[in-house]
Amino acid sequence: MKRTIKEIADWLSIDSVDFVETVVTGVSIDTRTISQGDLFIPFRGESVNGHKFVEQAFEKGAAASLWLKDEPNPPKDKPILFVDDAELALQQMARAYRNQHRGKFIGVTGSNGKTSSKDILASMLTPFYKVQKTIGNFNNQLGLPITLLNLDEDTEIAVLEMGMSGFGEIEFLTKMAKPHFAIITNIGEAHMQDLGSREGIAQAKFEIIQGLDREGILFYDGDEPLLQHLVNKETHLQSKSFGFQSSNDLVATSIETTEKGSRFTVRGELNGEFFIPVLGKHQVKNTLNAMLVGKAIGLHEEQIRQGLAQVTLTDMRMQLVPTEKGIIFINDAYNAAPTSMTAAIQFVQTTSIREDKWLVLGDMLELGENEKQFHEQIASVIDESKISRVCLFGSRMKWLYEQLKGKFAEANLLYTNDDYEKIVQYINQYADDQSLILLKGSRGMKLETILKSF
Ligand code: ATP
Ligand code: MG
Repeated sequence: MKRTIKEIADWLSIDSVDFVETVVTGVSIDTRTISQGDLFIPFRGESVNGHKFVEQAFEKGAAASLWLKDEPNPPKDKPILFVDDAELALQQMARAYRNQHRGKFIGVTGSNGKTSSKDILASMLTPFYKVQKTIGNFNNQLGLPITLLNLDEDTEIAVLEMGMSGFGEIEFLTKMAKPHFAIITNIGEAHMQDLGSREGIAQAKFEIIQGLDREGILFYDGDEPLLQHLVNKETHLQSKSFGFQSSNDLVATSIETTEKGSRFTVRGELNGEFFIPVLGKHQVKNTLNAMLVGKAIGLHEEQIRQGLAQVTLTDMRMQLVPTEKGIIFINDAYNAAPTSMTAAIQFVQTTSIREDKWLVLGDMLELGENEKQFHEQIASVIDESKISRVCLFGSRMKWLYEQLKGKFAEANLLYTNDDYEKIVQYINQYADDQSLILLKGSRGMKLETILKSF
């Protein structure tokens, strides 16, 4: 952004302020990553008081800072905006800036594939528009306003990830971002703990339409009956579905994997063959929503084809990692829930990149009271005729280990509670230039640690 202190003070209904002409070009909550011209926002947490860093923020080039009214000793002779609540002020500024911005806004939610879809879409659009997107996982009530306030004035398209862990959160975010296009990537099992059921999860994601522009369009996973049901009830909603079932507005009919990516054929809103340098059937699904948005924005089929062919993804999402020894790892260790773990395993089982296929699986966290069942059910996904070896890591994976004992010979199964080195040694002993090894687990399991040894 580019706003004077006076303009920002107006957004916050602050009357008396000095340095009215000082220009602010972004916001930051962290002095380690602050940029020249940022407005620094100090939060007062339980253990850390952000006001301690205000001086440092100015030293590093901050143009101004917020300051809580009841915090003593504000810096003198600096552009300071006094507020009652830093989080509320941040959100208020974000709403005001959003309302003045002329770009097209796209909101992305769903259980899995938000970041992937955001990255595919933004990357696909980049050759044709000035695009900005949520950085990393800045997708909540703090991350979204920070993302909004850091958008350049002349950005044509903003792709915004919206995450949640309970009801009302997506509603809050979508009303702030007011998207012209909304995407629901899928419905999985994450956050079952807080939302009670898959119906609950679907409903919580569907809140995204509450901030959708009146002329806006919802793009959703049409293979998911729960979403189809919610869409059917909204008579005035413009929507388009994507997926593998033939009833969808955009259908992927065949997918072929190579070492370079996925070639697939679509039918419906777009027709013909497309290629994306990304692996996995579920990533093709994420690509379908990007294609529909691209078309709605006004790209021609050939531009979409061209845009997809040069897509790059954030690390640790179905990332191919070749090693010196000739082993190929698929690093999908960014996160895991039953849906995404199933998708990744199925990909390994169906790909013809390599013959000797291994799974290295870590605990799936935050699944609530049915976590044991969710871990056990993964056994039914694993096809012992296609997978040669399985390594399991973490206390919850013990449940899956018990299920797999009957399917695999003992020598082909490894379990460890927390010892990465044990898995490294096992891989060193048995894997070679014919092996393809999937690394998949929740963020907390840090399975990518294993890669450091190769
Ligand atoms: P988070 O809630 O952590 O932000 P996210 O929704 O942003 O997650 P990604 O980071 O894109 O999701 O992907 C998380 C995991 O889900 C990855 O392992 C990926 O392979 C898998 N995944 C991505 N898209 C889908 C999909 N459409 N269906 C099932 N699994 C998917
Ligand atoms: Mg994400």
